[in-house]
Amino acid sequence: MTVVIAKIVWVLGCIGWYVIRYPHQRRARRTPVTQRRERLREGMLVAISASGLGVLPALYVSTRWFGFADYPFHPLQAWLGVLALIAAMALFYRTHRDLGRAWSVTLEIRAQHRLVAHGIYTRLRHPMYAAFWLWAVSQALLLPNWIGGLSGLVGFGTLYFARVGHEERMMLETFGEEYRAYMGRTWRIVPGVY
Ligand code: SAH
Repeated sequence: MTVVIAKIVWVLGCIGWYVIRYPHQRRARRTPVTQRRERLREGMLVAISASGLGVLPALYVSTRWFGFADYPFHPLQAWLGVLALIAAMALFYRTHRDLGRAWSVTLEIRAQHRLVAHGIYTRLRHPMYAAFWLWAVSQALLLPNWIGGLSGLVGFGTLYFARVGHEERMMLETFGEEYRAYMGRTWRIVPGVY
């Protein structure tokens, strides 16, 4: 394991993420939306998250701009990053499959939106966000740079903490008791903990 290989693994993760998401994105575009929440706020949060998980690490990987923020590379740390990335992609795949047409990039309710409470959603309310957290952790472990490595945790963390309460409120307003009961028997992102 070398820095170059770790950077390549990070790029492969981005490609994997895109390949998993693409068919769902196409299908989602064809499913009408009946409600769109807080568009400006949501747009800003997605931009912050994309900067941290995509733009800044891509600049780190492809330029020397953040060279001043490098720290020594540890192969074991990068190997842990590989494991976190594999787990993130597996979880990302499952959540997309289970959420199906209910999926959206920003907070939206679709025509004939049904509450998904099966598969990975049986125990967790936000497994796709769990996948994003794992992805951000893998970035931090793979890229030995304080900016290019940690920006994913900061960027996605901002989106997560600003959004999760709003998303649950939207789901409660849409599904009422059904979602309240669902909240009562599930965890947000870590089973048994949170
Ligand atoms: N927070 C979830 C979903 C992320 S996608 C996760 O992390 O897995 C965001 C969209 O998913 C929201 O706009 C909402 O409409 C939809 N959504 C969230 N939880 C849902 C559920 N249990 N069933 C159906 N749709 C859901």
